[in-house]
Amino acid sequence: MTTPAISVKGLIKRFGEVEVLHGIDLEIPQGQVSCMIGPSGSGKSTLLRCMAFLEEATEGLIYINGEPLGFAPGPQGKPVRLPAARIRAVRSQIGMVFQQFNLWPHMTALGNVSEALKTVHGVRKSEAEERAMLQLKKVGLAERAGHYPSQLSGGQQQRVAIARALALEPKIMLFDEPTSSLDPELTGEVLNVMRSLAADGMTMVVVSHEIGFAASVGQQIAFLEQGRLVFAGPPRDVFNKPRHPRLDQFLDTYL
Ligand code: ADP
Ligand code: MG
Repeated sequence: MTTPAISVKGLIKRFGEVEVLHGIDLEIPQGQVSCMIGPSGSGKSTLLRCMAFLEEATEGLIYINGEPLGFAPGPQGKPVRLPAARIRAVRSQIGMVFQQFNLWPHMTALGNVSEALKTVHGVRKSEAEERAMLQLKKVGLAERAGHYPSQLSGGQQQRVAIARALALEPKIMLFDEPTSSLDPELTGEVLNVMRSLAADGMTMVVVSHEIGFAASVGQQIAFLEQGRLVFAGPPRDVFNKPRHPRLDQFLDTYL
C-alpha cells in the first residue's frame, strides 16, 4: 500500500457557530485525478482550503504524503499545533489554483510566475526566470511571457496562474473551479493544460462543474452535499445508472 497523497480524517470545520463540514474522511491517491462535485455551498471550497491549510480544521486531521498538516495527534487524542517551519514544509508540497486568477496586474506573465521563486525561495533572478519560462512553455504560453495580464485572455491568465503554482514544484495540485469564471470558448484550453498535467502523473484534486472532464480524466469522483461526503468512487460507479438519487438530481442540473 502506498501512502495516500492526502488523507483527510474526521474533518470538522466550523465558522463560529456554524458547522459547514460534518466529519469528512477522504483519501486522495498518488498520481491520480480526484474530482470533487456537489451543489453550491456544499463545502467543496472549504474542504480544498483545509487541504492547503488556508483554513484550519476545527477537528480532525489531514496528512500530506503521510505527514500531518498543521496539527499532529497529541497525548489525549487532542491535536497539537506543529512548529511553523514544519507547517511551511508540508504546505509547500501543495499548489493551488483558484477561480479568480489573482495575477499581479503590474507584472508580466514571466514576472508573475517567477516572483515567488525570487522573493519567497530566494532563487536568483536569472534562474527564477529560466524556471518560470519552462512552466510557461508547459502551459503553452512561452511567446506570451512578456505580456501583462490585461493583454491576455481569461484562459491565458488562468494558464499563467497554473504555471505560477507549478513553478514552486508542488507534489499535489488543487484546483477550485478553475474554469468557472471563463467564457465557454476559453474553458477548453485550461482543461487541456490540466489534462496534460494529469498525463504527466501529477496528483490533482479538482473541484469543477465540468462533468465531462470529471468523467473522462477523473479516477476518483467525490460527491459532497451539505458538508458531508455522500460517496467517493471511480467514475463508472458514480455516473453509471442506477445512481444515487441525490446525484441524479445534481447531474440533471449540469448535464
Ligand atoms: P462550495 O465551494 O461547495 O460552494 P463553500 O465551501 O464555499 O461551498 O461553503 C460551504 C459553506 O460554508 C457555505 O454555507 C458558506 O456560506 C460557508 N462558508 C464558507 N466560508 C466561510 C467563512 N469564511 N465564514 C463563514 N462561512 C463560510
Ligand atoms: Mg466553492
